[in-house]
Amino acid sequence: MTDTLLAFTPEVERRTRPIYEKLKNFVPRVEWGLMAPIIDEINRLKVEKNALILAHNYMTPDIFHGVADIVGDSLALAREAANTTADIIVVCGVHFMAETAKILNPDKTILIADLEAGCSLSEGITAEDVAELRRQHPGAPVVTYVNTSAAVKAVTDVCCTSGNALEVVESLDADEIIFIPDQFLGRNIQKLTKKKLHLWQGSCMVHDKFTPSEIRALRSVHRNLTVMAHPECPPEVVAEADYAGSTAQMIHFIEKNHPQKIALITECSMSDNVSVPFPEVEFIRPCNLCPHMKKITLPKILDALRSESPAVTVDEDLIAPARRAIDAMLAVKPR
Ligand code: SF4
Repeated sequence: MTDTLLAFTPEVERRTRPIYEKLKNFVPRVEWGLMAPIIDEINRLKVEKNALILAHNYMTPDIFHGVADIVGDSLALAREAANTTADIIVVCGVHFMAETAKILNPDKTILIADLEAGCSLSEGITAEDVAELRRQHPGAPVVTYVNTSAAVKAVTDVCCTSGNALEVVESLDADEIIFIPDQFLGRNIQKLTKKKLHLWQGSCMVHDKFTPSEIRALRSVHRNLTVMAHPECPPEVVAEADYAGSTAQMIHFIEKNHPQKIALITECSMSDNVSVPFPEVEFIRPCNLCPHMKKITLPKILDALRSESPAVTVDEDLIAPARRAIDAMLAVKPR
């Protein structure tokens, strides 16, 4: 556990002042006195240990704006993990993301602040399930969302993220594709491609809770509302939105179109994090929390960096085949 010796000294206050400027709408001043020394110590340890912190867009703002070196969606984090010269990578996200970093960097130390940070999608399918799907659809290549275990990636032809799923599907020389495990992402992609997708019944416990009536209710209260939905939402929800895209694509949309008032139909921290660089945009915040993402906290990150544990491991015989599937995804050109 983190000790209590970290003090909010004038030096700590000065060094962390630029971070507080970003966080002041989320963190009461009284809490900042406890939080700032932890942030400061994490940032000191990163330099001392040549460590890199990758943080998913669903991390809380104190992590996202306070200690992360790289932030983004799963695709961005995978690309950064593939290119880093750091000795240690701390993945602030869920377990499959840390496994992906390990597959791309088997000789580096990959840390995650809480090994229990899982994912309903990742836990909903096994390598044996994929083998059964291949028996049912002989010859069809398997496209696997990155929200899966290393064991499932290892029996996959090519991975995808919500940001590049359509490009990956279209890149394959096949009319029928096994697309796993997210049924909603699959159904949303099916509307955009002529290829036949064979789906699995997985879903994200955060995004499958949104409903079309929720979106309609928001629009009735907020005029001129731009609604953006994550493609892990049910197609009926996506149909109510003005735009559907990954978290990175949502940010790009805001940069390009400057909507006045928006609702991001996704995990709660996304709006908090994105509102910092877009103070002129009004964020309406319907959201569902991901309990797995919320297992990652500043004190746990500090403990992980100090003790260099828990380290994420991947079975040696899974690394090469899983890496092939990830590399095949990274080689697909964006459209
Ligand atoms: S938000 Fe959904 S897909 Fe992402 S980690 Fe949580 S359960 Fe998994």
